[in-house]
Amino acid sequence: MTEEERAAMPAYIGRAPCGCIRMATIDEPHRAKENAKEIAAVLRLGWTVERVTAGYVREHWGPGCEQCNPPPKKRAKKASPAAQEALPL
Ligand SMILES: [Zn+2]
Repeated sequence: MTEEERAAMPAYIGRAPCGCIRMATIDEPHRAKENAKEIAAVLRLGWTVERVTAGYVREHWGPGCEQCNPPPKKRAKKASPAAQEALPL
């Protein structure tokens, strides 16, 4: 698969209320079950799910802001939401 083909692959993202992308997963048939779980987790958090491309994810993925990604001092270890751990890109 070329880099361009990979960038064009459909993906799902979970967007936190602050606007940051905090979950991203490639929409591939063999991942359908996992993706359904990830998307359900995002929706439970009250976040927005969007269908984009892998290239979009690569361009817009970031470390998060202070709202969704508090500075280390305030963040308890292993307190990250489950959706945040799903990044198979
Ligand atoms: Zn944020």
